[in-house]
Amino acid sequence: MASINEALDRLERSAFRSSFHLSECDRAYVKRVGMDTVRRHCADFIRTRLAPAEPPNDGRQTPMRGHPCFVAQHACACCCRGCLEKWYRVKKGRALDEEQQKKIVDLLMAYIEREMVRPALSKKAKNGEKAEEKGGKRNVSGATEKKQGVKP
Ligand SMILES: [Zn+2]
Repeated sequence: MASINEALDRLERSAFRSSFHLSECDRAYVKRVGMDTVRRHCADFIRTRLAPAEPPNDGRQTPMRGHPCFVAQHACACCCRGCLEKWYRVKKGRALDEEQQKKIVDLLMAYIEREMVRPALSKKAKNGEKAEEKGGKRNVSGATEKKQGVKP
């Protein structure tokens, strides 16, 4: 596997891979539980669903949404052994060792980090000025404020 940044840049040039983004809900979740927890989840998913020599349901084991890790797996072509072989020449039919798993998790986390700092995908972000003039909805920020108080 190339360096993480090289891999991410290459993925960004794929119309399909670059069409995946964390939803606002995913981003709120990452903020709430923290990157360490998300990394642990990613490591678990990769170990159980991608690393075995013959992962159960291979090719369809990664849902399109439901956890930031799943979105990251599709965006990073780490969703199944077919995509992994095509993008990173990791041979199918052989279990992924610890180091390979760690590289994948590092890539997924780098993707998630990038997604966490990009501007919101909402309409408000696209024409923010107009929304402000009209005194548009402000409830959105209120929701985030509440969550900040509940750190586990
Ligand atoms: Zn795949």
